[in-house]
Amino acid sequence: KSGFISIIGRPNVGKSTFLNRVVGQKIAIMSDKPQTTRNKVQGVVTTEDSQMIFIDTPGIHKPKHKLGDFMMKVARNTLKEVDLVLFMANADESLGKGDEFIMEMLGDSGTPVILVLNKIDLIHPDELIGVIDSYRERMDFAEIVPISALQGNNVDRLMDVIKGYL
Ligand code: GDP
Ligand code: MG
Repeated sequence: KSGFISIIGRPNVGKSTFLNRVVGQKIAIMSDKPQTTRNKVQGVVTTEDSQMIFIDTPGIHKPKHKLGDFMMKVARNTLKEVDLVLFMANADESLGKGDEFIMEMLGDSGTPVILVLNKIDLIHPDELIGVIDSYRERMDFAEIVPISALQGNNVDRLMDVIKGYL
């Protein structure tokens, strides 16, 4: 099994922390010619039976409300080129405008979206239920997986879930 996974989310939600934990290999081209590709490869995870290529899709995680129709279309089209989207958000914060913007962009691309609620080490499990509900109300996610990228909680489970979509 192999596939492309776009990882998006507001700054500081823990995308790099997650990638640093799971990614074994970084692709050289990403630093050489970042401009030549819309989807920048951030790293590759290779296991016995799978290969996951994590990429960044620029434009989508920037809450610029003045993006024109054309730019919205370009950003959306990049989502069609991937097998799966990981939308990472903070479990310890309520849903804000930046997250709303991202969900708007993700809306109808046809690519499955996994909501990854990160930083569960910072909250009480009871609080998590409310946070999950607030996201679920706004969008139909393929899966919702709470993790702590920093401490590693549930990260293996997330990797298994991802594999299921490749
Ligand atoms: P990015 O901007 O989305 O790439 O976010 P970073 O990976 O740079 O993380 C931003 C900050 O959040 C850093 O200080 C991380 O140490 C912290 N962080 C990331 N994941 C977790 C987590 O699971 N728990 C806690 N408590 N902090 C985290
Ligand atoms: Mg980062």
